[in-house]
Amino acid sequence: MRVTLLGTGTSTGVPVIGCRCAVCTSSDPRNRRLRPGVRLELPGGTAIVDTPTDLRQQALTYGLDRVDAVLYTHGHADHILGLDELRVYNFRQNAVIPCYGPPSALAAIRRTFAYAFEEGQEGGGKPRVELLPLGHAPFELLGVEVTPVPVMHGELEVYGYRIGPFAYVTDVSFIPEESFARLAGVEVIVLGALRYRPHTTHFTIPEAIVAAQRIGARRTYLTHLAHDVDHAAPSEPLPPGIEFGHDGLVFDFA
Ligand SMILES: [Zn+2]
Ligand SMILES: [Zn+2]
Ligand SMILES: [Zn+2]
Repeated sequence: MRVTLLGTGTSTGVPVIGCRCAVCTSSDPRNRRLRPGVRLELPGGTAIVDTPTDLRQQALTYGLDRVDAVLYTHGHADHILGLDELRVYNFRQNAVIPCYGPPSALAAIRRTFAYAFEEGQEGGGKPRVELLPLGHAPFELLGVEVTPVPVMHGELEVYGYRIGPFAYVTDVSFIPEESFARLAGVEVIVLGALRYRPHTTHFTIPEAIVAAQRIGARRTYLTHLAHDVDHAAPSEPLPPGIEFGHDGLVFDFA
């Protein structure tokens, strides 16, 4: 299995439009963050986690030439607005794309992309997706077992996903006990953390560090980062084994 981080930015992306702060004007490529998403190259094909706003740019940059399935974390705009780009994969693969996620995420997709689910003139084509609601039970996807990891994002339950030694848990402000159990023994986790200052629906970096130390992965990479975070200059030192993720980071698992 190979995992590629397609985007590690918060909902605005970094740089933020019009912002002249040190991070937004930085020449460090790791301070350029597209909206959050992940590619999973699995034994039976390629899945992505979410269809972020920047999906087209990510696909071109990282050679995302196939999408056999999508795992949605939740229905917020930064995680779903690239769904229309799936049309290209529909054409190329001549197939409907299965999209899994919590029922609330699929409901948001149905509302936001109403045209894709309505009868009517096709024009340039509509994305053809099959929405497949998930409960909390593990399921089989493209030759691997995927375990949903329910976490709280403010008052909204969203899903992270665990696939064997790897877990991706973004947009999180609270991890229930049962979900810590689902993350036990994971080797690499990509964990959401927004910035240093408190936020109602996201872990701060110090909160994410506490959760990461409890999870105990060999390596933790923080994602969904705002422009408050300078990759090369953390405001507070990160403990060993915990670092900032960046767009294009790749993990290989045997
Ligand atoms: Zn988000
Ligand atoms: Zn800025
Ligand atoms: Zn969100």
